[in-house]
Amino acid sequence: MNMPTEPAVLMQAEGQTSSVASDPTLRDRLIEAGILIDTGENGLYGRSEVFEDVVDRLNKVITLLGADQSAEVLRFPPAMRRHDFEDSEYLKSFPDLAGTIHAFQGNDRGHHRLLEALDKTLAVGDQERSDEWMDQQKPTRLVLTPAACYPVYPLIARRGKLAEEGAIVDVFAYCFRHEPSIDPGRMQMFRMREYIRVGSPAQVMAFRQKWIERGSALVRLLQLPFEIDLANDPFFGRGGKIVADSQREQQLKFELLVPVATPNKLTACLSFNYHMEHFGEIWNIQQTDDSLAHTACVGFGMERTTLALFRHHGLDVTKWPEAVRTFLWGDAAPMIADALARTGTNA
Ligand code: ATP
Ligand code: ZN
Repeated sequence: MNMPTEPAVLMQAEGQTSSVASDPTLRDRLIEAGILIDTGENGLYGRSEVFEDVVDRLNKVITLLGADQSAEVLRFPPAMRRHDFEDSEYLKSFPDLAGTIHAFQGNDRGHHRLLEALDKTLAVGDQERSDEWMDQQKPTRLVLTPAACYPVYPLIARRGKLAEEGAIVDVFAYCFRHEPSIDPGRMQMFRMREYIRVGSPAQVMAFRQKWIERGSALVRLLQLPFEIDLANDPFFGRGGKIVADSQREQQLKFELLVPVATPNKLTACLSFNYHMEHFGEIWNIQQTDDSLAHTACVGFGMERTTLALFRHHGLDVTKWPEAVRTFLWGDAAPMIADALARTGTNA
């Protein structure tokens, strides 16, 4: 069932993004300033105290923004059951992004082979290192979480039929995607804060619309230029193009985009996704009337939004605009109440 979100509210281009450029030097400047720590691998960074402080404060204002949702707060480690992951069909759509967890599970002889292979690996220069020792590694029952909401759907399904009001869940986790890049906005391990809605199509669509407005209000309070646009996920392969086109046609995914580091391209800092009954069907999540539940999620890219703040307000957080400082370091509650009253999405 296709229920497009109101275009009038969606296409509220803020009219500022085109005049504000992305900054391809951002990664180097952040590393130079010690705000991000280079590990030697593209897309894998250490975070400094100042970076983490901004992430924490963003996380807090997102909590305030969703305080009226009475969401169930759940926190999962950055791994999920392989079993649930297999069911999720992630491998059908994004086999290139997934990360699996392997471990040594052999005996003494296997250990011997492992060490021999490792010796060979270490004997050669850094560039030609082989991965022969990994032949001794076997899959575990865990995989890395690709999106913070993935552990939630099977859990909700295991609880049985939904209540009349459906469910709203709040998650926050490190996620893994195998997409090494020198774009600091495209990391391999990054955090997503998400609110997830499970319920009837009407409940789920209202939720997504509400969060498009609230997400916009948040980014406006952060004084970042942005646009909301229709989007698609990077479905794999030739068949993927058809799926992506269909996702767009049905207006299932919207993104809030900000100029960050990629030249001539905006970066998706928030995503608003409507999965229709995709997850409801996979895990048989039922509504009170036995029909399949629909789901939606809003994802806040914590690193990307933090990077956007450094890009637009500078590397010295003490010099950020006064109102942004008050919002993140002072009393955000009245500012949020005011913004919600304006969007008309409070309570
Ligand atoms: P993109 O289109 O740029 O690959 P996405 O729209 O596929 O991103 P989602 O799957 O919707 O991303 O993930 C939710 C949020 O997680 C995104 O809005 C973004 O802020 C963040 N995110 C996604 N991929 C990355 C990444 N590689 N590094 C940092 N943040 C990311
Ligand atoms: Zn999600």
